Amino acid sequence: MNIHEYQAKELLAARGVVIPRGSVCETAEHAREIAASLIAEGETLIAVKSQIHAGGRGKGTFKSGYKGGVKLFKTAEEVHAGASAMLGNVLVTKQTGPEGRLVRKLIVAGAPAIEKELYLAVLLDRGSSRPVIMASTEGGMDIEEVAARTPERIFKETIDPAVGLMPYQARRIAVQLGLRGDLIAQGAKLITGVYRTWAETDASLIEINPLCIIIGADAKPKLVALDAKMSLEDNALFRQPTLLELRDLGEEAPLEIEASKFNLNYIKLDGTIACLVNGAGLAMATMDIIQHFGGRPANFLDVGGGASKEQVTAAFRIILQDPNVKGILVNIFGGIMDCNVIATGIASAVKETGMKLPLVVRLEGNNVQAGKRTLAESGLTIISGDSMADAARKVVQAVAA
Ligand code: GDP
Ligand code: MN
Repeated sequence: MNIHEYQAKELLAARGVVIPRGSVCETAEHAREIAASLIAEGETLIAVKSQIHAGGRGKGTFKSGYKGGVKLFKTAEEVHAGASAMLGNVLVTKQTGPEGRLVRKLIVAGAPAIEKELYLAVLLDRGSSRPVIMASTEGGMDIEEVAARTPERIFKETIDPAVGLMPYQARRIAVQLGLRGDLIAQGAKLITGVYRTWAETDASLIEINPLCIIIGADAKPKLVALDAKMSLEDNALFRQPTLLELRDLGEEAPLEIEASKFNLNYIKLDGTIACLVNGAGLAMATMDIIQHFGGRPANFLDVGGGASKEQVTAAFRIILQDPNVKGILVNIFGGIMDCNVIATGIASAVKETGMKLPLVVRLEGNNVQAGKRTLAESGLTIISGDSMADAARKVVQAVAA
């Protein structure tokens, strides 16, 4: 589960990570008020930042033509105008795809003058099965690009999860980042705070890009987390009830939300052949074989090992809501699953939705004869597939016709 920058910053700030002062808002009027009070407190430049679950906002463009999802302004009036141009509009960035994301919230915060941009991240290294802290002196740009061009400017520190981050490790990263003098202690404290946030929230990723050296009001250099991207591990959310409240359904595909209500594993793709399959491995194999015969899957859908009739009906309703779907392939291997439950679910779903698209069904396993009888007696036009390859070929042909 991804969360917004403003939410990530709250979690980080609660653990001692320094962030620019500011607030989140949903109206241009409120943005103006926040800016006015920041200016009254002595801020000379104000950052207005679109809150969407995607990066690259700084270089993004709104569908209205307005340039920049992160902008700096000098007056409360300019902030008001900028916020009006962003709120309620769709921002397209390198990471959103051409459809973009609707901006509903903004951070309005003090924008300090940046001395240097650095990079800091905590993630799980699947290779060593350990948390790793990644840092780079090249902040503000894609870390993938830095890794490709100047890999020697990326530093890694592997953490023993039983011991946690050791103070010497935090200091070592601070020194590798080029921090000197008082900034080493600040850096170690900030790095420790970011690591603690990662560990305590069961995050899978925290990325601070850029982490900035700024010159504070007292003319001394200060380290500040200017941006924060954070993903939480879905499998740990059961023990993080307060974090579950940070979920923003507005950022998730509506069909995927509907599917999650029925415990269905659904991911929308951009092809034309919908698949309804039990088991994630079989679902992936089904997508592969559709591609093999020249078709393109419209979704990944795993109804699980022991789906009920209600789940199958819901699964059908969900895949049919995708207007790109031109045919459906049901591929069920009944190990635990009773094929007749699936067949009953299919029959009632097709009747309920009045579906007219070609439907290819391949059933195999537990109680398959009863399942086939149910389908035959349903009076529906169903193309039956004898094997997985046969079913895939038939659905690709039916959609092409
Ligand atoms: P992203 O483009 O979605 O990663 O959004 P960021 O929050 O990283 O902002 C993009 C860029 O805008 C940063 O790399 C900075 O160069 C600049 N920027 C963002 N916030 C501030 C700020 O408070 N002060 C200054 N001077 N620049 C900022
Ligand atoms: Mn960034």
